[in-house]
Amino acid sequence: MQAWVVATPGPVDDGPLRRVDRPLPEPGPGQVRLRVTCCGVCRTDLHLAEGDLAPRRPQVTPGHEVVGTVEAAGPGADRFAVGERIGVPWLGRTDGSCRFCRRGDENLCTGPAFTGWDLDGGYADACLVDERYAYRLPPPIADEQAAPLLCAGIIGYRALRCADVPAGGRLGIYGFGGSAHLTTQLALAQGTTVHVFTRGEQNKRLARTLGVDSVGEAADPSPEPLDGAILFAPAGDLVPVALRALDRGATLAVAGIWLSPIPGLDYTGELFQERRLRSVTANTRRDGEEFLRLAGRLGIRATTVAYPMAQAPAALADLAHGRFAGAAVLHN
Ligand SMILES: [Zn+2]
Ligand SMILES: [Zn+2]
Repeated sequence: MQAWVVATPGPVDDGPLRRVDRPLPEPGPGQVRLRVTCCGVCRTDLHLAEGDLAPRRPQVTPGHEVVGTVEAAGPGADRFAVGERIGVPWLGRTDGSCRFCRRGDENLCTGPAFTGWDLDGGYADACLVDERYAYRLPPPIADEQAAPLLCAGIIGYRALRCADVPAGGRLGIYGFGGSAHLTTQLALAQGTTVHVFTRGEQNKRLARTLGVDSVGEAADPSPEPLDGAILFAPAGDLVPVALRALDRGATLAVAGIWLSPIPGLDYTGELFQERRLRSVTANTRRDGEEFLRLAGRLGIRATTVAYPMAQAPAALADLAHGRFAGAAVLHN
């Protein structure tokens, strides 16, 4: 089979990915192999390709928003039927035994394995998954629209919960890409007021199309105090901006896995009055199940741009340079 690998981490325009031939992997105990139909392109893939995130394994195949059909099952794998459509997310495996797994916080597992970082992901013809970490996908959602739900959607759902906005409250969204545009639909469906702060005319247009309450520049002051905010842009300099926009006692959740340096904070203007700053780290399988159910019920749809699998580097470059709104999806 053909698979993309991160050959030389570095600037995306220098071609860090290479396409290689690999034997079709055989599923081990509890694993299934899926034939990849499509795979979403997440900003984390870009951080890996560019070396912002240190490689955990040389020549790993990126991609952790994988949609495909089961074509082979390893010993003891009986959760899915051959031919069934499933999705493979970022959380590829946990140890199930550390103190965080035992208390239900498997997103904080001390011995996790992530798809497309530790484990080969979906920028390929086929990939393996531990069946316990795969998802069934809501039937009405087409493959291309389902792919971005698997990371952008699930992480956004967790970030929204971490931002802790009360019912009918006011949410600020900083940065408006793949994850933000899904989270916005969820928040609006729940009656939340949504203010978006972003750069890029296409992103602003997409936010307006979804019916948000206001759209401003990334560092604009908020039109009203916020009951919670999510920082999706990987820009640490927006942390103080978003903190200043928070009402007393409100939380800023940082959704990304990587952030540029955060400037010094002014305690009185940016943290005092019990404002909170917290990160969002991966997700639990329960987050994923809950979000996918909601996405099916509320009709959450990704705005996508399709690329052939052969064009994976172009998709990553277009993401890096902000050349599209919504989410890119690679197709076999
Ligand atoms: Zn654990
Ligand atoms: Zn991701």
